[in-house]
Amino acid sequence: MKNVVVVGAGPAGASIAYLLANRGIAVTLVERRRDFAREFRGEILMPSGIEALQQLGLGDALAQTDSHAASDFALYMNSELIFTEKLDPEVFHGHPPLAISQPALLEAIVAKAEKLTTFTFVRGVSVKELVEDNGTITGVTIREDNRDRFLPADLVIGADGRNSVVRKHLDHGVTEKSPPMDIVWCKLPCPDDWPGLKAYVGRGHLLVAYHTWDHSLQLGWVILKGTFGELRNKGIEAWIEEMARHVSPDLASHLRTHSDAAEKPFLLDTVSDCVNGWSQPGVLLIGDAAHTMSPVGGQGVNIALRDAVVTANYLVPILNNSSTTVTEITSALHDIEKERRVEVDYIQNLQAKPPKIVLSRAWWGEPIRRLAGFALGTQQIRRKAAQGASAFPFGVRDVKLEV
Ligand SMILES: Cc1cc2nc3c(=O)[nH]c(=O)nc-3n(C[C@H](O)[C@H](O)[C@H](O)COP(=O)(O)OP(=O)(O)OC[C@H]3O[C@@H](n4cnc5c(N)ncnc54)[C@H](O)[C@@H]3O)c2cc1C
Repeated sequence: MKNVVVVGAGPAGASIAYLLANRGIAVTLVERRRDFAREFRGEILMPSGIEALQQLGLGDALAQTDSHAASDFALYMNSELIFTEKLDPEVFHGHPPLAISQPALLEAIVAKAEKLTTFTFVRGVSVKELVEDNGTITGVTIREDNRDRFLPADLVIGADGRNSVVRKHLDHGVTEKSPPMDIVWCKLPCPDDWPGLKAYVGRGHLLVAYHTWDHSLQLGWVILKGTFGELRNKGIEAWIEEMARHVSPDLASHLRTHSDAAEKPFLLDTVSDCVNGWSQPGVLLIGDAAHTMSPVGGQGVNIALRDAVVTANYLVPILNNSSTTVTEITSALHDIEKERRVEVDYIQNLQAKPPKIVLSRAWWGEPIRRLAGFALGTQQIRRKAAQGASAFPFGVRDVKLEV
């Protein structure tokens, strides 16, 4: 039997580890955190991600996870409402965007995997480095109880996120696609009647506010990279006040009333890039380790889950065959990248567009935003814009599990 080590139990790593183990392949999943709740994790699942989970046999894990389905989307520009749109479940193939507790989802996936005799979970332990023999990766070294331990593998899957050690080992270089922005991320109590997602665009700022799985109001304040330092020195109340100046009067009043209750505000450095070559003999990168996704359009978790489906399609047949050679596995790794690059490139390019307009401080920024706001007030143009951005909810092409 072939043996796989998966590095990192985020959405990409936990789901591919479960699927391979479920198909009879020996899998060791290594996760550096003891507790999934400690790290920031994206929370919005799109229909594409929900469908991927269901195909992977993880629909029950999702059903156990706390969630909140968005019922409406509203866009404001310079504090004025441009439109409110109902998020009709039928339009979203029965799955409107869902705010979930990602830590709870990951716990449910690994709990399900741990019932399989082919699955081993090593938790609270970091992969330190990859071990190579004549250009082929033969396993990883983990640091456990102050001692290094070698885990041999026919294949290492690096699903260890944006600061991946596996990516560093490959050293294939990256293509940067990063829009120049940062996000201030914090939670407040949720107003009683907050329906789903509201976006406030205005003068070089964007505030996104959504109803979370735990019935809080999650704020994501998108700002130009490097502009937060000044405000941070002035303290939380100063930047809550700055946000309040760019939103509708009802939210401004809510922000001012609850500024004392702002929970764990922190700055997230956003990155968007893609590694130039996701594999080498014995190793494959997937998820953010291969292509770090920006937060625009809530895509990263969904893309990571769809990577897992495609990876399984190629790997299950060949890893179940004990006589498969390294060359055959390497060829499958190239095919996985080739298939996934189409969607990843398309979506990363789509994600780069809105920040360029929304955050622009060039002379043309404000007139373009006003024009866009005016146009989006018309239902017909809104429909066209939704078609142009349909890759966000549905992906670029059908991704179906075939194994
Ligand atoms: C502000 C912001 C908001 C976002 N919001 C959304 C959203 O709403 N919806 C969405 O779909 N996406 C969102 N994203 C993107 C999303 O969070 C990522 O794209 C997604 O988590 C990638 O999944 P992954 O499994 O590839 O990696 P990760 O989720 O990063 O998981 C990697 C795992 O590897 C572990 N690890 C790292 N190094 C090691 C090591 N050496 N040894 C062992 N384990 C290791 C980590 O602890 C982690 O558990 C957002 C991103 C940002 C920055």
